[in-house]
Amino acid sequence: MSYKTDAEIAHESPMRPIGEIAAKLGLDEAHISPYGHFKAKITPVKAFALPAKQGRLILVTAINPTPAGEGKTTVTIGLADALNRLGKNAVVAMREPSLGPVFGIKGGAAGGGYAQVLPMEDINLHFTGDFHAIGAANNLLAAMLDNHIYQGNALDIDPKRVLWRRAVDMNDRQLRNIIGGLGKPVDGVMRPDGFDITVASEVMAVFCLAQDLADLKNRLGNMLVAYSKSGAPVYARDLKAHGAMAALLKDAVKPNLVQTIEGTPALVHGGPFANIAHGCNSVIATRMAQHLGDYAITEAGFGADLGAEKFCDIKCRLAGLKPDAAVVVATVRALKYNGGVARADLGAENLEALQRGLPNLLKHIRNMKEVFGLPVVVALNRFVSDTDAELDVIQAACAEEGAAVALTEVWEKGGAGGEALAHAVIDAIAGQPNEFRFAYEENSSVADKIRAIAQKVYGAADVDFSSEALAEIAGLEKLGLDKLPVCMAKTQYSLSDDAKLLGCPTGFKLHVRGITVSAGAGFIVALCGNMMKMPGLPKAPAAEQIDVDEHGVIHGLF
Ligand code: ADP
Ligand code: MG
Repeated sequence: MSYKTDAEIAHESPMRPIGEIAAKLGLDEAHISPYGHFKAKITPVKAFALPAKQGRLILVTAINPTPAGEGKTTVTIGLADALNRLGKNAVVAMREPSLGPVFGIKGGAAGGGYAQVLPMEDINLHFTGDFHAIGAANNLLAAMLDNHIYQGNALDIDPKRVLWRRAVDMNDRQLRNIIGGLGKPVDGVMRPDGFDITVASEVMAVFCLAQDLADLKNRLGNMLVAYSKSGAPVYARDLKAHGAMAALLKDAVKPNLVQTIEGTPALVHGGPFANIAHGCNSVIATRMAQHLGDYAITEAGFGADLGAEKFCDIKCRLAGLKPDAAVVVATVRALKYNGGVARADLGAENLEALQRGLPNLLKHIRNMKEVFGLPVVVALNRFVSDTDAELDVIQAACAEEGAAVALTEVWEKGGAGGEALAHAVIDAIAGQPNEFRFAYEENSSVADKIRAIAQKVYGAADVDFSSEALAEIAGLEKLGLDKLPVCMAKTQYSLSDDAKLLGCPTGFKLHVRGITVSAGAGFIVALCGNMMKMPGLPKAPAAEQIDVDEHGVIHGLF
């Protein structure tokens, strides 16, 4: 049996005018600025002036992923559709896709099968221009910084200690390391430089953690961009860049409203990396989804060790959010991968490998329950290649663990395939204890915070800090920037810092090689391994398959 592609399903799904979707949320024309017929930005000020209400907040997270992605976005969308089928008022809050993965390996990020947000082509390509605006704000700061050095360098910035890099929303390894300012003396000051993908820019993290435009501007001003020759910190506000940067972002900061295939309202807004940054959509969109819906369904990137931990310890802490439940997406395929099966062989039944991979799921369930104190439901995201015997193994393991589990078929059936999950989530909120807490105290030392995450969440025996990392921690203490939450940057494939240690490793050491600070976003970054802030394209990029016909219809997006 052959299945339709995401693009084919999206093309044949009729969309409703965006005003009708807004009306479902109680928003009239005054609250929205339409971008064409099917997209709109919501004006936060007006939306927040509606009678105060706080919907349930459901986090969708997952086991450690395979390179293909395991269906968190698909389940997020399908769960919201299912809740609406049950007569609940559910709203999706999710990230905007980056052009890098769209044209690279992973493809788009608008869900899949019958659980998609529409118009998927627009959402995957440019959308309402937010990422370009974020890139422009990033590059304005870069231009002002270099211009400051060129125009006499009153702040005595050390060209070799500039932290700020340029940004573009593209996978382009050619720009990873460059020399800027080549040419004549009037062509700028020569110095080593480089580009990061826009989603790895601190501006993106700031954008997603800001409460409103004023808070955004303040956080942009707090970004640490360089050191002077005497070692003094230089912040974006020292360059007087933050006002103009915020001006560039005044519209981007408004959440984008679109619809799912089934007409469920979806706020798609912001999209920071989940390694170097915290990997969730904007605080403004999550708050608004909670405000406008009875259920806000949101997603955090990668597995629960990275995504859910940062969602709780960074996003919820900084924004004062309190989740009502966590949905842990598991697939037969990803558990087999965690049991050591190669990516090419994931389609074949393999009960032994599945058994070997199961401890990975159990660890994430326990983390969400015991470390973060949340009600948990496992969403078993069914692929057509899964066998009944394989699905049974996972369901039996969850039953033995005392964990709620629901077979989820939203990719194949839309919201109808998510009703079991929706019921399980409603039951979990009502029946399981919610003692939401963080994995560590913000005011602990940087080393203690990292140790708490490594030991409690990853299952590490201990943490090893490089001498550079220890020196960098001392530097942060001197600047008074050490009392911030920690954003762990490590591989998403393993609970450890070794991508090859799959399943549920124990007794390992976590190696912290370096520490940086995103002072505007409000977190310290612990680098456990080489983090790619500018990915490259694969040998056969997805872009080779993408095309547009003479009617403007896009083909080959997935
Ligand atoms: P994540 O958010 O975890 O990265 P996505 O929801 O984006 O994952 O899904 C990754 C890819 O897997 C998408 O192309 C999606 O269509 C596909 N996918 C998700 N669930 C299923 C499923 N049950 N069967 C087949 N393909 C699926
Ligand atoms: Mg996703």
